[in-house]
Amino acid sequence: MQVRDMGEFGLIARLMGEAKARDGVVVAIGDDAAVVEVTLGYRVVFTCDCMVEDVHFLRKAPGYDIGYKLMASNISDIAAMGGRPRYGVVTLITPADEEVAWLEDIYTGIKACAAQYGCQVVGGDTSRGPKVVLSVALLGEVLPGREMLRSGAQPGDLVCISGPLGASHAGLQVELGRIDASAACASEARLRHFRPVVPVDLALALGELGCRCANDISDGLASEAQEIAVASRVGVELDSALLPIAPEAQTIALALGEKPEDYALYGGEEYALLFCLPPSLAAEVCVRYPAVRFIGRVTEGDGVLLLHQGERERLRAAYTHFD
Ligand code: ADP
Ligand code: MG
Repeated sequence: MQVRDMGEFGLIARLMGEAKARDGVVVAIGDDAAVVEVTLGYRVVFTCDCMVEDVHFLRKAPGYDIGYKLMASNISDIAAMGGRPRYGVVTLITPADEEVAWLEDIYTGIKACAAQYGCQVVGGDTSRGPKVVLSVALLGEVLPGREMLRSGAQPGDLVCISGPLGASHAGLQVELGRIDASAACASEARLRHFRPVVPVDLALALGELGCRCANDISDGLASEAQEIAVASRVGVELDSALLPIAPEAQTIALALGEKPEDYALYGGEEYALLFCLPPSLAAEVCVRYPAVRFIGRVTEGDGVLLLHQGERERLRAAYTHFD
């Protein structure tokens, strides 16, 4: 069945199912706007993130994966600010001849990811358009003073990462058909690309412990470290020997004759958390979260340097949408 066979309201009902008002939702889908409760004394953290057909996903990709990743990218932005994700609205633009079943799969993925991280979809907007475009706007909450900003790094801080890097970029190579789907690590890598695990609990704990600087890895470690360096007016020195490279990145990069380290430095859509904190806090974080790795230091300088076998190399900027 195609979208034109259902009409807008039939489509929304099919995608969203029964609207249940629960967990702080006072008015859910079906009115002009949703009404939600916010926790007294908290600030609102507010973000949106979109995905465009042929730019962020290919039409052949499973809908569930597209939807899951879209919601995860929004949750990651809220978490990287130190916030707890709560309520989302979804904008869907679709051609009239799109298959409803595929859109339903996208929404199943969106809702599954939201549920995984304790938040809910409370509405959206729908329009016809030449290609499928999906956007989620997500609202989260943070206690005043617990925000983690790109501008929060201080010289002397340690630079840490929530877990191994490069698997998502490796998964993208599978999705692009550069690697046989039956090759070693291919299915694990693909999963890491489409079902990112967002370290929300770690992010909340960091905010509570006193970490004031974080950034999620959406455009690659080099680029996110650069954003911190610029916003905080500091230098960031990363140690190549300390970068945790995911086994999927190791295997797939080598199979393609590429450098695993480049996957870790420049691979996007990882949704790992990059953060800076005083050495006195780092020990406690590493004990509580064993996947966390110390990868470098914040200095008085500027830009991002990579220490590699005694040499210092200035890192090039990574992917931006209009290159
Ligand atoms: P309005 O015309 O007042 O903007 P709509 O007809 O667009 O209202 O939306 C009706 C209800 O359906 C609203 O509660 C809205 O949030 C919800 N809704 C519309 N499109 C979507 C969508 N793509 N996903 C989820 N909810 C949607
Ligand atoms: Mg509307």
